[in-house]
Amino acid sequence: MIREHPAFSDAVELLRSATSMTLACHVGPDGDALGSMLGLGVAAEGAGKKVEASFGEPFDLPHAYRFLPLDLLVPPARVTEAPELFVTFDAGSADRLGDLESRVERAEAVLVIDHHASNPGFGTVDLVVPEAAATAEIVYHLVAALGWPLDEPVAMALHTGLVTDTGRFQYSNTTPGTLRVAASLVEAGARPEVIGRHVYEEVPFGYLRVAGAVLSRAVLEPGHRLVWSVLTQDDLAAGGIGLEATDNLIDLVRIAEEADVAVLMKELDRGRVKVSLRSRGRVDVGAIAVALGGGGHHNAAGFTWEGSVVEAIAAVKERIPR
Ligand code: 5GP
Ligand code: MN
Repeated sequence: MIREHPAFSDAVELLRSATSMTLACHVGPDGDALGSMLGLGVAAEGAGKKVEASFGEPFDLPHAYRFLPLDLLVPPARVTEAPELFVTFDAGSADRLGDLESRVERAEAVLVIDHHASNPGFGTVDLVVPEAAATAEIVYHLVAALGWPLDEPVAMALHTGLVTDTGRFQYSNTTPGTLRVAASLVEAGARPEVIGRHVYEEVPFGYLRVAGAVLSRAVLEPGHRLVWSVLTQDDLAAGGIGLEATDNLIDLVRIAEEADVAVLMKELDRGRVKVSLRSRGRVDVGAIAVALGGGGHHNAAGFTWEGSVVEAIAAVKERIPR
């Protein structure tokens, strides 16, 4: 299904013919963004390509992903100005590349690899496959079609993308095809217990304090079947952790059984709020996020709000069908 996509063979050709490539994933990268990018990068290097990989500022690598093969990573300020081939991963629109968005205009060719249905396409070739559970699932098929080496670091990176975007193979995006790819990756050396430990079973102690604060101020709005909470900069300071360590916090909020939709608002700088949305399926939170300037999937989406958390939650609430 992924290999039948009309852009698949063009994507293979772009990757095959390039001698050097610059890779970028979305800002505030998650397991799929980093895993898909580094997986392709390490495989490309193994095939003799010159590769660099990065993501836009803030260039803070989430603690949970330090076990990935990171040698290719360079800070965005050091990224080639006009790459021969610029490949983007898991970025649903060009602005999700942050300060690396400029490379979309300057590169000789741009390959977009993504699985967000809301992606309008912004490359020379757009391999956007909404049926893929993760961008890493698409990358697996590209690496296999190219015959590039799929060794342990590549398998670890790609499997991390699958595990995180499927919620450990429990969300509705988990297909037989996804599980077949996972099986191949474990065969190739991916170690589920190592990934699971780093991503889900190890946090700095301060995270417990932060989670406690966020959970203690959670609000249930039965009329909207909505649960929401706020993460403040004071919480982070008190816990001694950074924003990049709070990716999985929404998973603690979303389990309230009275709610169909969960919202976690994270205070950024200068009156901006990063809003994460999750749905149990009834409500298309991707559409809500798009309407508010962001994007995502039916059941997981986000946007950045310029203003207060009170305004942000009001904007979400009025878009939830009752
Ligand atoms: P998270 O809430 O974990 O940051 O993101 C959930 C999903 O929504 C991911 O697929 C992510 O790429 C997407 N997403 C989050 N924030 C934004 C945003 O500001 N713009 C767009 N286009 N997508 C977003
Ligand atoms: Mn993804």
